[in-house]
Formats: sequence, structure tokens, C-alpha cells
Amino acid sequence: MGPQGVGKGTQAAKLAEHYSIPAISTGDIFRFNLKNMTELGKEAGAFIEKGELVPDELTNRIVEDRLGQDDAAQGWILDGFPRNASQVTALDAMLEKLGVSLDAVVALDADRSVLMDRMEKRAQIEGRSDDTPEVIAKRLDVYATETEPLLASYEQRGKLVRVNGVGDIEEIAQAIVTALESR
Ligand code: ADP
Repeated sequence: MGPQGVGKGTQAAKLAEHYSIPAISTGDIFRFNLKNMTELGKEAGAFIEKGELVPDELTNRIVEDRLGQDDAAQGWILDGFPRNASQVTALDAMLEKLGVSLDAVVALDADRSVLMDRMEKRAQIEGRSDDTPEVIAKRLDVYATETEPLLASYEQRGKLVRVNGVGDIEEIAQAIVTALESR
């Protein structure tokens, strides 16, 4: 978990490679569907373009489907989910059904100025339609109000691992693995 621009996607991919498990990104699944103009893409698109969360019912369903696929049987890393309290409850229910539990929740953090800077650069390279200044500000606000408070609840459960998201990509990846393995 972590704010927009903190490098969740990059680090999720690194962790996935390290542990040979899939990285499951709700944002990537939505963008894939948006690009291919599927029903899901059309439904989610309107929310994404505004920087709002896609409705839980839809989001929870895609995560549940994805976690049930064969390649997820040996583990996974979720990137971008859960993002609000009701998604936490939904994830708990999914995991109970699957008979598995969370090993850890990795929280990456960086100052807002660093995040804004990175997203501006990313916007130039990737041209994501939700990387305009207004939509970025909205997404960061949604993160602060809906998602950040979830960290406290995972901390209470003894699941939270905090890692600084500023620095060299490889060093951050190493710091995450070290933190996970020294628990
Ligand atoms: P970022 O973290 O930079 O906003 P993501 O790729 O994780 O990028 O998400 C892009 C958009 O996809 C979000 O702004 C939101 O509209 C939608 N989205 C992704 N994950 C979720 C989620 N768990 N719940 C609801 N909407 C989501």
C-alpha cells in the first residue's frame, strides 16, 4: 500500500519476481479492460478518469476472480487493493473462503512533493489519462481519506511493514525483502 507515485507497481513487480508469484494490480486490470473496451472497462472508465474509486462491488469481484486463478494458488502480491474499509472486509472474506491468510502488508511512503514530481514525469512518458494535475490531486486526496487510515488497522493486526519509498529502486526492493524476512 502507498500513495500514488510511490512506486507500488515497480516494487510489486520486483517482489513478484523474487518470490515467483503473480503481482495482481487492480489498476492494471482496469486499464487493460479500458484499452480493450470491455464491459468492465466501460463501467470502470468513468470513475478512473475522475480519479475516483471504482465501485467496490465491481472491484471486489475482479479481485476474487483473480485470486481464484491457478497461478495464484502459491501466493500473490496485491497492488492497489484494498483501498477502503469495505475492501478490507471483502478481502478478509475472500481469504477465509480460500483458506489462506495475509503474510504482511507492505506500506511504502514518500513526501507529497516527491510523489507529484514522479507522477509528472510518468505522465510525460506513459500518457495515462488520469495523470493530469487535477486528477492526480483527487487521487491523492482519496488515498489520504480512504486508504491511509487502513494502515493503522493492519498495524494493529501485526501485519504492517513500513518501508521508505525514496531511493534507488533496487535498494528499496532489497529493503522490502529484508523487512519481510526479518519479521
Ligand atoms: P494509482 O495508485 O496511481 O492511482 P492505480 O493503477 O492503482 O494507480 O489505479 C488507477 C485507478 O484505478 C484508481 O484511481 C481507481 O479509479 C481505480 N482503482 C484501482 N484500484 C482500485 C480499488 N482497489 N478500488 C477502486 N478503484 C480502484
